[in-house]
Amino acid sequence: MLPPTAPHEDIIVVSSPGYLEKLSEQLLSQSTQRTIQAYLLWQIINEYAPSLSEEIRKPLQRLNAKLRGTNAKVTKPRWETCLDQVDLSLGFLAGRYFVLETFKRSTKARADEFVESIKESFLNRLPELEWLDEVTRDRAIEKAHGIIHKVGYPTKTPNTMSPVSLSDYYSELAIDQDDYFGNYLRSREWLIMKNWRRAGKPTDKSTWEMTPAIVNAYYNPVYQEIVFPAGILQAPFFSGEYPDYLNYGGIGAVVGHELSHAYDNNGRHFDAKGRLREWWTKETLEAFEKKTTCFVDQYSNFTMEDEDGHLINVNGKLTLGENIADNGGIRQSYVAWKKVYDKKKDSKENMLLPGLENITPEQLFFINYGRIWCGKSTKAQAKQSILTDEHSPPKWRVIGALQNSKYFADVFKCSAGSPMNPVDKCDLW
Ligand SMILES: [Zn+2]
Repeated sequence: MLPPTAPHEDIIVVSSPGYLEKLSEQLLSQSTQRTIQAYLLWQIINEYAPSLSEEIRKPLQRLNAKLRGTNAKVTKPRWETCLDQVDLSLGFLAGRYFVLETFKRSTKARADEFVESIKESFLNRLPELEWLDEVTRDRAIEKAHGIIHKVGYPTKTPNTMSPVSLSDYYSELAIDQDDYFGNYLRSREWLIMKNWRRAGKPTDKSTWEMTPAIVNAYYNPVYQEIVFPAGILQAPFFSGEYPDYLNYGGIGAVVGHELSHAYDNNGRHFDAKGRLREWWTKETLEAFEKKTTCFVDQYSNFTMEDEDGHLINVNGKLTLGENIADNGGIRQSYVAWKKVYDKKKDSKENMLLPGLENITPEQLFFINYGRIWCGKSTKAQAKQSILTDEHSPPKWRVIGALQNSKYFADVFKCSAGSPMNPVDKCDLW
């Protein structure tokens, strides 16, 4: 569905050249034309069938239920499907109403504070790291200073608060009240067109990869930015009513996570200006790689059970970047919170929770970290995730990062050498 006017660029950046090579050598050249045609056709069915009538949707639902180990009769509530669809097609427009309803000005100010304090704790940590030499450390500091953060919603392309800007942004997308499938098709086409038009033009750094209502966050190495949509600035990650220690154990850890992505095995390749350049000295790079093998080994030992009771190991290499980010994130957030906390222990922001007076704020920080990853999935789904998701399963995201945290071990008085306080901890940022 490429637009006829798709521009032809002389230079195309391929971020995974190995994939393309193997795709033609090992897959396309060894598959029959019929197989490839069937695959393409299947992709179209898989993509479009969910937006068609029930008799067409049903077989696909049965297949997906089988793959996920769920009951085919249990489907997403209709309102959820509709909301997803609106977010996919008109996410910034819908996001305006979401933001007006849920996002307070004070939330933005609080989030800015989190980011600043966590960045500061990261910067304070750098001189302590003995494996980092002077040259690389200075460049790492420069990079941290260069990272910008966006919170809540875009204010330019489009400006979520301006009906005029939103109307301009979506002006070429025709929506017809009586044509659900047509709307879906046109919105896909519109998005592809919009992306193609960006090719060859100067980068517009005010754009967002996520819409305001999404419960997620990201680090974009090329723009050198960490981004937190309004959707994730809600409980259990954040609440204006929460004490600081819950917010730092929640959104604080997420901020630290995204910041640490700038220094994980992928993000580290980009320099302070977001260019793909080697800025590490050879010695420091070797030390970095040695330290990362500790994480690869640790997480590769974690397992989940599949439907047949077989244990599947987490792929420590696939999940390395996310694990580095989790470990850096929880540490930076804890240190940042402690600094704030020690200054104003008796403040309203650090009040103890009624009924939980026997749990310390330090412990509650970590408890909320566990709470943000609470979830439930079937064994079939867990298996699918462990094979394809670059995040470790939620359970191991919590246990893995906390096993490495000396603060966690102190706060919960875990004896040395016990499962949650192993003697050999992995440690990086
Ligand atoms: Zn991540």
